[in-house]
Amino acid sequence: MSRQIWINGKLLPKEQATISVFDRGLLYGDGIFEGIRSYNGKVFRMREHLDRLWDSARAVALEIPISKEEMDKAIYETLQVNDLPDGYIRLIVTRGAGTLGLDPFSASNPQVIIIADTISLYPAEFYENGLEIVTASTIRNHPAALNARIKSLNYLNNIMAKVEAITAGAKEALMLNHTGEVAECTGDNIFLVKNNTLYTPPMSAGILGGVTRDAVMELAAATGRETRETALTRHDVYVADECFLTGTAAEVIPVVKIDSRAIGVGKPGPVTLDIKERFHKLVREQ
Ligand code: PMP
Repeated sequence: MSRQIWINGKLLPKEQATISVFDRGLLYGDGIFEGIRSYNGKVFRMREHLDRLWDSARAVALEIPISKEEMDKAIYETLQVNDLPDGYIRLIVTRGAGTLGLDPFSASNPQVIIIADTISLYPAEFYENGLEIVTASTIRNHPAALNARIKSLNYLNNIMAKVEAITAGAKEALMLNHTGEVAECTGDNIFLVKNNTLYTPPMSAGILGGVTRDAVMELAAATGRETRETALTRHDVYVADECFLTGTAAEVIPVVKIDSRAIGVGKPGPVTLDIKERFHKLVREQ
């Protein structure tokens, strides 16, 4: 059966769920999005994802034409009609179609789209044995140019770094910020473990505030492990005991090598495995 897409209040087969070629989301990446998961028919951290979407909208001066309550209902409807108790939801809001000029206010018909599908970012073996990543030479966008806290449809900064990862034979790239500090990966936040303490870059490093990042910090605290949100450099990654990435699509995935160097003993470490297991429990028992 063809996937049913929720588009501006209607559920349509994916072939019929279309938007204008004049849409500013296509012409300029002028729009915002969210990636959300549901487990056993329940959306994980719906409120946090919707709050972030609404903050992204506010930051780019875009008004979402429906309420958070309506979005919540539409997400569940889309999951149900597609029979996806364990699904990945992509919410997209574009500014709509206007003239070909840059003026964002020439468009007055924002498009709201909800896609529900399945997603598998990395093969299972990487969750078992760990990922190998590389440092990209493409730096993360300067926060004063396009703040990474805005989950905008303009992801070329991340895609440029992903190109570097893949052409180097890796699956993911570490991105540094404009001061040379560790920021995040192209679609995931990064954590290091050193002497049983977790470290992750602060929001001021110019990163997306991941919903999974927050959940992992809560899980770590519940096990008595501190997470220090502090400026990190590549040196810290090289000398870490363990490293892992977090994201809605990726969940929690160990990293065992960076720039061809083993991190710690080059195998997923005990803290990473503990957090990974606790995360799986959390999402299923929420
Ligand atoms: N950083 C970036 C750049 C992302 O796109 C994402 C989401 N895929 C994340 C971090 C992780 O955020 P979350 O845990 O909310 O999915």
